[in-house]
Amino acid sequence: MPSYDYDAVVVGSGPNGLAAAITLAEAGRSVIVLEGDATPGGGTRTAELTLPGFRHDVCSAIHPMGAASPLFDRLPLASHGLDWVHPEVAVAHPLDDGTAVTLHRSLDETVVSVGHGWRRVFGPLVGGGRDLLDDVLRPQPHRPAHPLGFVRFGARAASPAVGLGRAMGDERAAALWAGIAAHAITSLSIPLSSAAGVVMTVAGHVGGWPMARGGSGAIGDALVAHLRSLGGTIECNRPVRSLDELPAARAVVFDTTPWQLVQIAGDRLPPGSYRHFRHGSASFKIDYALDGPMPWTAEPCRRAGTIHLGGTAREIAVAEHDVYRGRVPARPMVLVAQQSVADDSRAPAGKHTLWAYCHLPFGSTADMTEPIEAQLDRFAPGWRELVLARTVSPPSAIEGHNPNAIGGDIAGGASDRLQLVFRPRISLDPHRTPAEHLWLCSSSTPPGAGVHGMCGYWAAQSVLKHQP
Ligand SMILES: Cc1cc2nc3c(=O)[nH]c(=O)nc-3n(C[C@H](O)[C@H](O)[C@H](O)COP(=O)(O)OP(=O)(O)OC[C@H]3O[C@@H](n4cnc5c(N)ncnc54)[C@H](O)[C@@H]3O)c2cc1C
Repeated sequence: MPSYDYDAVVVGSGPNGLAAAITLAEAGRSVIVLEGDATPGGGTRTAELTLPGFRHDVCSAIHPMGAASPLFDRLPLASHGLDWVHPEVAVAHPLDDGTAVTLHRSLDETVVSVGHGWRRVFGPLVGGGRDLLDDVLRPQPHRPAHPLGFVRFGARAASPAVGLGRAMGDERAAALWAGIAAHAITSLSIPLSSAAGVVMTVAGHVGGWPMARGGSGAIGDALVAHLRSLGGTIECNRPVRSLDELPAARAVVFDTTPWQLVQIAGDRLPPGSYRHFRHGSASFKIDYALDGPMPWTAEPCRRAGTIHLGGTAREIAVAEHDVYRGRVPARPMVLVAQQSVADDSRAPAGKHTLWAYCHLPFGSTADMTEPIEAQLDRFAPGWRELVLARTVSPPSAIEGHNPNAIGGDIAGGASDRLQLVFRPRISLDPHRTPAEHLWLCSSSTPPGAGVHGMCGYWAAQSVLKHQP
C-alpha cells in the first residue's frame, strides 16, 4: 500500500479549486491547495489597480451565478464575511433616446420596464428557478429532477439569442436580452447562444445580480476561511510546473485549463487527450478611478450595478458576430460594472470605481481603449473629466493576472456549440482525465464559466466516486 501525504492536492485556488477542496474536506479527506499566485482566489481577487483607496475587481465583479449557486447557498460563507450587495437596479441598458431598460430581481418590475414579452419567455422558468439551476449547473446529460422546467429551459436555450429576442416582440426588451446574452462570448446568431443568457437571467430573478461587499476578493477569502475551518491547507506562491513537484496524493485536482494540464502532466496523459478542446474569444478590460459618479444620461443607469453598452439588439449581435468570426468590432458591446454605487468601501468618499470590458478575437493585440471609451461617451457624455486614473488590461495582461485566461479567454474555453455542454471533451465523467488519479475542476469543465464553484463541486464528486 503506497503512503500518501494527502488524500488530495488541488492545483489552483480559483472558486472551483476551492469548491473542490471544500467538498473533499467535507467528506473527511485531507486536502492541500497549491496556488501559483501570491494571493488566493483566482478570478475572485480585488486589488488597488489604479490609485490607493480604489478597490478594483481584478477579474469577476458581478455575481448572479454566485448568488444563485446551489453550493455557495449551502456553505456558511456569510459567517466568513461574504456579504452580497444588491444595487437598486440589477442591470441597466441605455438606449440612444436617453432612456434605459432595466433588469430587476423582481420579474414584475422587469416587465414594467420591458413589457410582457419578457414574462412570456422567462416567466415559466422563474417560479422553479432554483430547481432549474440545480438541474442545469451539472454535467449533462442527466435525468432532470424537474423535467418540465428542464424541457422549457432546453427549448429556450437551444435557440439563437437573436431569435429569442425577436420572440419578445419588443425592440427594447430584445436589447436588454441581447446585452445579457452577450455574456456567452459567442455569436448571438448560432444555436445554443441563448443558453448562458437564459441561465443568467433566471439566476438574476432568483438571486439578483449582486456584488461582494469590499470586492470579489471577499468570495475567495470566505471560501479559503471555510476550507481552513474544515482542516484544509492552502499555500500561495506555489506554481506547479510538473507532477514531480507535488506532494504524494491519491488524487490531484487541477483548477487549470486542459492546455496547462497537458504541459504539467506530460506523458502521463495519452497523446491528443484534449486535441478537440477550443479556447474562446478574448476580453479587453479597463479599470477607472473616478472623481465622482458617472454622468449617465439615462437615470436608471446611475442606480445600476451592471450596465450594458451596445445600443440595439442588432448592433450587439453584429459586434459579437464580428468577434466570433475573428474580426475586431468597430463598435464593441461593453460590459460595465460600477460597484461603488452600492458599496462605498470601494473608493474614497465621493469617488467611484468603474470596471469595463469588451470582447475581441482570441489573443488579439488590438487596442480597444478608444472604442470602449466611445461607448462611454455615447451614454455618459462628459465622463472623461472625472477620470483620475485608469489601468488598461489587454488580453495579454488578463492572462498575466491569471494563467488560466489563455489568450485573454476569460471563460476557460469556448462556450458554444458542442463544447457548451461537453467540455473539456466528450465524456460521461468529464472532470476525470484519461490519466489515473488526475482530475480537472476549472471552468473548462461543466457547468462552465462564472463564479459559482459548481465545476469544483462536481469534480470532487467524481473523485469521491472513484476513490470511495
Ligand atoms: C476580466 C474578467 C471578468 C470576469 N467577470 C466575471 C463576472 O463578473 N462574474 C462571473 O461570475 N465571472 C466572471 N469572470 C469569470 C470568472 O472569473 C471565472 O469563470 C472563474 O473565476 C473561474 O474559476 P476557476 O476556479 O475555474 O478558475 P480561476 O478563477 O481562473 O482560478 C484558477 C487559479 O489557478 C491558479 N493556477 C493556474 N495554474 C496554476 C499552476 N500551474 N500552479 C498553481 N496555480 C495555478 C491561478 O493562479 C488561479 O488562481 C470574469 C473573468 C475575468 C478574467
